[in-house]
Amino acid sequence: MKYKRILLKLSGEALMGNKQYGIDPHRLEQYVNEIKNVKEEGLEIAIVIGGGNIFRGVEGESAGIDRVQGDYMGMLATVINAMALQSALEKSGLFTRLMSGIKIEEVCEPFIKRRAVRHLEKGRIVIFGAGIGNPYFTTDSTASLRAIEIGADVVLKGTRVDGVYTEDPEKNPEARKFNKITFQEVYKKGLKVMDMTAFTLCHENNLPIIVFDMNKPGNLNEIVKGNEEVGTLIY
Ligand code: UDP
Repeated sequence: MKYKRILLKLSGEALMGNKQYGIDPHRLEQYVNEIKNVKEEGLEIAIVIGGGNIFRGVEGESAGIDRVQGDYMGMLATVINAMALQSALEKSGLFTRLMSGIKIEEVCEPFIKRRAVRHLEKGRIVIFGAGIGNPYFTTDSTASLRAIEIGADVVLKGTRVDGVYTEDPEKNPEARKFNKITFQEVYKKGLKVMDMTAFTLCHENNLPIIVFDMNKPGNLNEIVKGNEEVGTLIY
């Protein structure tokens, strides 16, 4: 295994599968299988999950909801996804803990770094819900921050596209995928990997990112084994 401790970022939107909103149970099951496969290799796994399938603060703002209020609604949306994921992981026999960036004592532990690390060492999958607990941030920033805090080797950003391209592959079929690219080049070429807050945090702390297609079975396993053809490594 190339990595020992990973932070996997899953977007809320991806959980929708083919549905218009909410959680697609088939997609959830597929993700659980992918995660279980790498867990069986002995990896320590932390997960940050988004909330875009349920609510985004910015969208709420355009509907007249106060931005800060909307962001908290977004954070709660991530907790709903995190609870669904936790339940699905446990159903498959894995041990998990859900830690939240805001206090929801009946369902989550508060985020405490040392405790999170201890859970990982004991083989539990740790899910970070409610983002970092502050408005004006995203779950990508949460992924970067928590990964740094717990000393993860890499952030794995699972999306619908299989990596970072020279141009938007949905607009230009000629676009080429990078197998690896430096942080500097991403800035210079104006490519989009994560929001800038999240991206800069990784850069400043020398934390590599891999963008990959989480919907293709086996991809996650290939990446943790070190297959550089899968996804794009930003280093
Ligand atoms: N959010 C926030 N602070 C955080 C993380 C999330 O305010 O630390 C809110 C924000 O409104 C965001 C929403 O939660 O739009 C859902 O997260 P995100 O959009 O990152 O989810 P994804 O796009 O990954 O599904």
